[in-house]
Amino acid sequence: MAKVTILGSAAAEGIPAMFCNCRVCQEAWKNGGKDIRKRAAYKLNDHVRIDFGPDTLYQEHQYQLHSENLKHVFITHNHEDHIDTHLLVYRMPGFSVVEPDNILNIYGSDGIYHKIHQNFWKMFHFEGDFAKFRLNPVKLQPFEHIVLEDEDMEFYALKADHMWDQVLDRPFFYVFRNGKSWAMIANDTGYFPDETWAFLEEKKFKFDLVITDCTGGVNDIEHGHMSGKWVLDTKKRLEKIGSVTADTKYYINHFSHNGNATHAELEAHYNPHGIQVGYDGLEIEY
Ligand SMILES: [Zn+2]
Ligand SMILES: [Zn+2]
Ligand SMILES: [Zn+2]
Repeated sequence: MAKVTILGSAAAEGIPAMFCNCRVCQEAWKNGGKDIRKRAAYKLNDHVRIDFGPDTLYQEHQYQLHSENLKHVFITHNHEDHIDTHLLVYRMPGFSVVEPDNILNIYGSDGIYHKIHQNFWKMFHFEGDFAKFRLNPVKLQPFEHIVLEDEDMEFYALKADHMWDQVLDRPFFYVFRNGKSWAMIANDTGYFPDETWAFLEEKKFKFDLVITDCTGGVNDIEHGHMSGKWVLDTKKRLEKIGSVTADTKYYINHFSHNGNATHAELEAHYNPHGIQVGYDGLEIEY
């Protein structure tokens, strides 16, 4: 059996959000527990994660993650809540003690590569010597297939529907195999683009675990993010393909306070549809 840990379950602002006095944030302060949400990220095993946002150091301490053992980080897109390029600077000798043969592979679109390059250039007039940082950025194309033999894992980068104009990036989400188990983690996407549905229809994955975006909480959002009716339609279409069955563990994650729902309210809304609600620190075996 494989395991995913949800290290963060919020959209960009976190919950309670900075500067915010909305009902959901007030409830979160009052309730604590599952209503306190850091920015979304996932641990797939001790060596592999998805996303590396601004709460990474706090997640490291809270869940004893030991990032010195990390080997592969898959980045969904270049929004600040998913990649904190500044943290990667600390791979450099002088900031951390990293063995010369300890290389961290960072996978993502061209946009991720350029974002890291640009930030390093601003700080160091960096000209591409990633080895100095013990980093190996790997540029992915949409629908590219990556095999991690040492981990007994494989990944596909699927095209997301996520604010293409604003991020100057090609946002991805990931389908992956860990051992014998298959999973899809799809945050920061609206209802999937046609190309992505065509790919899923062709591949006919059998998912043991699915986690989709639900930024808009109990509202109905189709594009950029998804929630409400579009979360349900996504599940139904995956069922129709045969990729989701009664045995698939099905979750939503990446919540905004603007989604107008506490954890309990999200559960009341989605549990009747066979959908569980993610929260920080949740470990899911699949
Ligand atoms: Zn996000
Ligand atoms: Zn709020
Ligand atoms: Zn985003």
